[in-house]
Amino acid sequence: MSCHLYDQFRQAMPDLDKVFIETMDGRKITYGDVDSCSAQMANVLTELGVAIGDRIAVQVEKSPDAILLYLACIRAGAIFLPLNTAYTPAEIDYFLSDAEPRVFICDPAHIDKLSPIAKKAKVSHTLTMGTKRDGTFLDQVKTALPEFQSKERGPDDLAAILYTSGTTGRSKGAMLSHENLASNARTLVTYWHFTSNDVLIHALPIYHTHGLFVATNVMLLSGGTILFLPKLDTTQILRLMNRATCMMGVPTFYTRLLETPELNKDITRHMRLFISGSAPLLAETHREWRARTGHAILERYGMTETNMNTSNPYEGDRIAGTVGFPLPGVEVRITDQESAKTLPQNEIGMIEVRGPNVFKGYWRMPEKTAEELRADGFFITGDLGKIDDKGYVHILGRNKDLVITGGFNVYPAEVEAEIDAIEGVVESAIIGLPHKDFGEGVTAVIVKKKGADLNEKQIITALENRIAKFKLPKRILFLDDLPRNTMGKVQKNLLRETYKDLYTA
Ligand code: AMP
Repeated sequence: MSCHLYDQFRQAMPDLDKVFIETMDGRKITYGDVDSCSAQMANVLTELGVAIGDRIAVQVEKSPDAILLYLACIRAGAIFLPLNTAYTPAEIDYFLSDAEPRVFICDPAHIDKLSPIAKKAKVSHTLTMGTKRDGTFLDQVKTALPEFQSKERGPDDLAAILYTSGTTGRSKGAMLSHENLASNARTLVTYWHFTSNDVLIHALPIYHTHGLFVATNVMLLSGGTILFLPKLDTTQILRLMNRATCMMGVPTFYTRLLETPELNKDITRHMRLFISGSAPLLAETHREWRARTGHAILERYGMTETNMNTSNPYEGDRIAGTVGFPLPGVEVRITDQESAKTLPQNEIGMIEVRGPNVFKGYWRMPEKTAEELRADGFFITGDLGKIDDKGYVHILGRNKDLVITGGFNVYPAEVEAEIDAIEGVVESAIIGLPHKDFGEGVTAVIVKKKGADLNEKQIITALENRIAKFKLPKRILFLDDLPRNTMGKVQKNLLRETYKDLYTA
């Protein structure tokens, strides 16, 4: 078997007339189109002087052409570098100077603002790509030859760089190899029972590992069809469920769908699998979804640097509040943060992972790479967790979100789960804020159900007999919504910043 990621996709292709992507405005891209259009794009890139190992930075709105461009880059031996569409010109300036791409492809609407930035970063070619098959890059593609012999690449050669959505310090470019991506996609196809009969509802962004690699690579390797939505649209999703077999979403997808009165067993009866990840799924959402649809959401855990690490089982119990078992070929261990020794089951520590899925390091940051990748190949994820008696992995929050109060560790997920179980609470976030006596004060930010009559005192009373005193929030703040990024992650850094003077002012 070739180790080139595209060759593996090519070999897995079903009948070339079969539709790979269908958009909501009726555009259909067959597997044959995938091969010929990505060849045309690869030819254009090569004519532009793109050589093996060159970076191609891309900040464009979601479209099938952006997926084809990803494939074209790897066929041309280049490194695909997708950028979040929300990044501002100042942020793009950082990414282009850091990654030094040969080519930058942006949205036609932003070319005037971004082309001087690209010029400053010495990008050789800046082109555009819109969502309606428009833009200067696609103009060139139209007349290019539809055949291309993929450039030879080894398993450890880079296929992509994805910048982490880091909230502390500079964003880091995670270097992912052909084998990192291919091995993970192969594992997921088997573990989640994907076949060419599958039809996936795809409403995730494609600049992030979830929508780009998990969803797209799995479908390419299984030979299925993608129903491609520009973004989350609950009406469309409900309408598509009678044709689809599976959906991959962030927890927000599920909470938003639960708000629709139409969601029931009947509307989801054609579906075989609902997958959630990228942020913690509330146990309540898991329960409600099961009650309304009869389906147990399958929660999995992954990250930009590692692809997917663990998953609840396809067959067997999908346990709410856990992220399941290590995937085949992936090792997970829990270590003590100070001694780095492996901890026994049920003890909380740092989650570390090792396997063919784990990235090659951070782009031009050897010190950061050395800090986070151990000599024995384990990657220190930055997530705190434990493995229970049955082998299920539990995530208790990011290490940087750990609250240390009066010298005691408070794991946010534990307190959040207790608060979320209180009648009238939708969800909560525990943060640590500077406190002159305790170092950090445990603080709860809570979203109440509409009309719920809950105050600070009632919450504390409800928690008092359930968790140790040092874990009790010192203050409770009520908000209408928790701030989230596009992947559904609660932005605790924003909450910490907003309320930093709560105990010190
Ligand atoms: P990203 O690199 O943007 O994909 O973010 C990865 C981080 O998201 C992980 O390190 C976890 O903190 C979090 N994450 C991903 N999946 C889950 C999950 N199922 N439950 C809880 N946190 C998750």
